[in-house]
Amino acid sequence: MSCEGGDVIAADTMTDGQLLDAEQALRIRRLGMASVSYLVSFTLIAICSWLGLLPWSASIVFLLFSLTIIGAFLLVFQSGINLRFNEPSLTAIQMIVSMLPMLYVMFHLDAGQVRAILLMTVIVPALYGMLALGSRQMIYVCAIFLAFYGALLAALWVWRNDVIDPSLELIQAVTLILVVSQVAIIGGFYSDLRQKLKDRNGELKEAMTRISELANHDELTGLANRRHLLSILEQEAYRYQRARGPFCVGIIDIDHFKETNDTHGHAAGDLVLRRISQAAAASLRHIDSIGRYGGEEFLLILPQTSLVGALTKAERLRVLVAELRFPEIADDLAVTISVGIAEYRAGESIDETINRADQALYRAKDAGRNRCMVED
Ligand code: GH3
Ligand code: MG
Ligand code: MG
Repeated sequence: MSCEGGDVIAADTMTDGQLLDAEQALRIRRLGMASVSYLVSFTLIAICSWLGLLPWSASIVFLLFSLTIIGAFLLVFQSGINLRFNEPSLTAIQMIVSMLPMLYVMFHLDAGQVRAILLMTVIVPALYGMLALGSRQMIYVCAIFLAFYGALLAALWVWRNDVIDPSLELIQAVTLILVVSQVAIIGGFYSDLRQKLKDRNGELKEAMTRISELANHDELTGLANRRHLLSILEQEAYRYQRARGPFCVGIIDIDHFKETNDTHGHAAGDLVLRRISQAAAASLRHIDSIGRYGGEEFLLILPQTSLVGALTKAERLRVLVAELRFPEIADDLAVTISVGIAEYRAGESIDETINRADQALYRAKDAGRNRCMVED
């Protein structure tokens, strides 16, 4: 309900569109990192060909296959097709697809031992998975990997029986299952931890918002409190040094408010304070501010406004308050306000401006109340 126009919210100002662009850019950067991993694997595989352990044609196929995968994902991210998926980073799909070129190479290797060495390259996509996947997805991806490896062994059994050493294959497969299962469990553990951290961050952010709300706003009226008003005034004075342009301060005090309290009770007085606050806040321009300065006193901050303009605004507010009715308290209840206005002068402290506005307020009270007065 407060209407401090002076405070600028610096955090979280990204629009949804900008946020989306940033996320897509991050996905493309990650794809760049994945490309480096493909390149590292290709280097390893090329060395195998150079050593005569693998036909060069298989190395070339690996390279073309990898480039096709990277190119396809790049296209998907650039066109935004990925946004239609639940997990737009497509980490799980990228991990699964990245296994295929390596499996192809493994099929064409002549030495079974080299296959065991190449299996180590699986650790890299598993690390990506730990950073991005949920615990269940991590388990699925690991299970799919094991299934692929099982299919590879079956294919080797059928078509390349000569390169298979059963006891070696058995220990290799069992080790793989044990290692991959542990990766899945640890990955899931990290994922849960990440989720908890994310939840805590959200709670913390909410608490910070609430704390700043409590620190800057008056509980009864919801308007800016004295502390916040003074900080807005400091900002305004600072702005004045850089870009001249008058700004005015008005002190509003409810007339004979003690009487209202004495006649109708403190709760009624509180209601009057709230209603006046709501009406005043709703009537101001976005850049103007009003806050509760003390008991039944309010401070009006009018940037880019001269004394004459401030007087007009204060006058409008005075009439608005005088016209308010409070049928829930008493049909004949009406309240009035008196306002004292001063303009900020170069180099002076905020207190000095407020003092002059206060003096003007006293004069308004002396002159019979229900009126606005500017400084001498
Ligand atoms: P005037 O300003 O016209 O000289 O008279 P007044 O009766 O308003 O003067 P004064 O400043 O002496 O009294 C202010 C009264 O405002 C005192 C208190 O009863 C009342 N008041 C201050 N804060 C609150 C509040 O939070 N709730 C309620 N209900 N009353 C408040
Ligand atoms: Mg008072
Ligand atoms: Mg008063």
